[in-house]
Amino acid sequence: MDNNKKQQLNTYLGAIHIHSNYSDGTGNIDSISKAAKKAGLSWIIITDHNNFDIEEGFYNDVCVIKGEEISPDNANHYIALGIKSYIPPASNITKTIEEVHKQNGFGFAAHPDESDLRKNSFPPIKWLDKNIIPDGVEIWNWFSAWGDKFNDRNIFNIIYSYLFKHKLVREPARKTLEWWDLLNKNSNEIVPAISGVDAHALKIQKYLIPVTVFPYKTLFKTVTNVLFLTTPLSNNFATAKEQILRALKDGRNMIINKKNCKNIPVINIENRDEAVTCGETIKIDNQTYINIELPRTASIKILCDGLELYNLIAKTYKQLLNQTGKYRVEINVNGKGLAYTNPILVY
Ligand SMILES: [Zn+2]
Ligand SMILES: [Zn+2]
Repeated sequence: MDNNKKQQLNTYLGAIHIHSNYSDGTGNIDSISKAAKKAGLSWIIITDHNNFDIEEGFYNDVCVIKGEEISPDNANHYIALGIKSYIPPASNITKTIEEVHKQNGFGFAAHPDESDLRKNSFPPIKWLDKNIIPDGVEIWNWFSAWGDKFNDRNIFNIIYSYLFKHKLVREPARKTLEWWDLLNKNSNEIVPAISGVDAHALKIQKYLIPVTVFPYKTLFKTVTNVLFLTTPLSNNFATAKEQILRALKDGRNMIINKKNCKNIPVINIENRDEAVTCGETIKIDNQTYINIELPRTASIKILCDGLELYNLIAKTYKQLLNQTGKYRVEINVNGKGLAYTNPILVY
């Protein structure tokens, strides 16, 4: 690709959907931000269940933003960002979404399609009515994906589930991706997606030595949001927060699983004049290409308005585009997800 067209993008890795000791997590802001720093993250968003009490700011060089996971009892968890004050859970999720908007916030349906086929004692918590439209979708939630596969029927299955935890988390639920595509199809705007770690660092006390399952640092090395900013992240907290939330609202992020994807793929669309990436728009001309450069050879799926246009195996790929629509890309190796882009709108 012509280097003059390339935007100077600043990329920042971050994790969303984290529970602290203000709800059912075990870490405090100092230990969580230290774990994030060790995992190479520059920003995190703590979203306690029905709680909005932590003090956000820069901690250990990590930009720590607070949101809230508004969590009614058995369904419709909502990751609310950019809100000003605590919002209590309500049985009517439409009211919750309105309340978030009233506070100038926006939100993501959390783990919308937890499996009904779980072989454990944790019942699925789903987004019950798919006609109720959130601002965005958490398309991949590490803990929820693990929970869908966690088998606690006997001790061997339990040990396997903990020891080989990363083997249990393969790809986002297809159902969720299809719903997200549909929401995008029905909207003129880009409906953004995020990944969530849903980290708690739970301490299991029933054995002789208390065991922390899934420490924060371990999960911070799994599903990650790669944020693309046009200007470097500010040292001023209020400005940095604004930059991060604005980008997430626009879908200027790619979702990767660092377990399977050590380096960040380059995925963009260019025309004669410019090149754009996730969450952006570009006008079609007769030189409109999608460019993909991966850290390794992998399966590449290119979708437009939810329909699969190309499916191939390659390390680098360039394809002329001759139809408008919302394009997004999925990358996997043998069914293990590496990267999922937010849509790019070609008009
Ligand atoms: Zn939840
Ligand atoms: Zn959660």
